[in-house]
Amino acid sequence: MAKQIQAIRGMNDILPGQSRRWQYLENIIRQVVAAYGYDEIRMPVVEQTDLFKRSIGEVTDIVEKEMYTFEDRNGDSLTLRPEGTASCVRAGNEHGLLYNQQQRLWYMGPMFRHERPQKGRYRQFHQVGVEVFGLDGPDIDAELIQMTARLWKTLGLTEHLTLELNSLASNEARANYKVALTEYLGAHAELLDDDSKRRLESNPLRILDSKNPAMAEMLAAAPKLSEYWDDESREHFNGLCARLDAAGITYTHNERLVRGLDYYNRSVFEWVTTSLGAQGTVCAGGRYDGLVEQLGGKGTPAVGFAMGLERLVLMLEQLDQADLPAAVDVYVSAMGEQAELPAVKIAERLRDEFPGLRVMQHCGGGNFKKQLKRADKSGARLALIMGDDEIANEVVSVKYLREDKPQQSLTWDQLSQVITTIHS
Ligand code: ATP
Ligand code: MG
Repeated sequence: MAKQIQAIRGMNDILPGQSRRWQYLENIIRQVVAAYGYDEIRMPVVEQTDLFKRSIGEVTDIVEKEMYTFEDRNGDSLTLRPEGTASCVRAGNEHGLLYNQQQRLWYMGPMFRHERPQKGRYRQFHQVGVEVFGLDGPDIDAELIQMTARLWKTLGLTEHLTLELNSLASNEARANYKVALTEYLGAHAELLDDDSKRRLESNPLRILDSKNPAMAEMLAAAPKLSEYWDDESREHFNGLCARLDAAGITYTHNERLVRGLDYYNRSVFEWVTTSLGAQGTVCAGGRYDGLVEQLGGKGTPAVGFAMGLERLVLMLEQLDQADLPAAVDVYVSAMGEQAELPAVKIAERLRDEFPGLRVMQHCGGGNFKKQLKRADKSGARLALIMGDDEIANEVVSVKYLREDKPQQSLTWDQLSQVITTIHS
């Protein structure tokens, strides 16, 4: 036998059955973003490597060690997108969508990072991202958080997620803070792990993000970013908090929340769960007012977030809250060769008259018992049976597969009524 070829580690197949849970999640996300008037944008999965280097930052986990970068046949350096924000800004600049305009956009699709695969962490994973351009107030930041809160409510996840907020303030305030933090960390260099030592010069804020328990106490006593906030950023943050309070959304102010990407300023936030082990962040975002300009556009304020769909699917699985609909509503069987064409006609007529009804036609012949077994396995609620008697009497037999009801012979009109009740 020929050797089987396997999928690449960390890149998963989403199998039939599982895909229904994905569709359930994706459909609810589409409904929620639509409920706020956001429009979809679709970007390519491959971009020039420089796009990510210039936006995410050279000294970040993503650019330092996680990108899938390769040379194409022309010798150009290309990268499988590790996230969507940079591509979205690139597209917005390229098509003149950003300057002096307001855009509320969302996208969904695969992202690629060469990380160590484990539960909730994969090399191909999926994000839904939401990005807003042209608005700089805390009102829009609050709207984004409200949108995510509504999503959790719709998915039944509210009590399993908590919101953490921080402000990275202005570039100047952050730069002042960096000096103080670097000094403090330098004075405690003997407690820093190798990763942190390396970051001390290049990206000291990221050290605050460390989950190393040996550094926890020292980091807890570090100078606080909020002590360096500029007045405008403080006002912005207070404005966001007031709006969340008014909306009844609870949060904690996490002084050490800095996010792993360089382009953020002012508001940053994460929705976190304790139910997924170390991979606890399901949604993260913030303001990136400088990025549009940094990527060659004219200065445009921006804010957005991205959520990891695998982590949400895992949560839904654990809670088993997504009631998975079967893929089929009605299964149509034919008994005897004569009945085959009339059965196909019934199935097609149902599809004509009940858009959205999922009708599976039995194929491959077989006796009554075999066909009913298939019908049952399909998950359908009803089996329709055409045979010689049904043709002679101009009826169709209906067998209820999930209810304790006797089989019935129905005219088309009667059948229509039954279908209307199950298909609303
Ligand atoms: P983490 O700290 O878990 O590595 P991150 O800060 O790198 O996350 P972001 O770049 O902010 O993550 O991406 C937003 C969201 O995308 C994350 O909160 C998470 O839900 C999801 N995500 C990121 N990387 C992965 C991955 N390798 N596999 C699955 N989901 C991921
Ligand atoms: Mg990461």
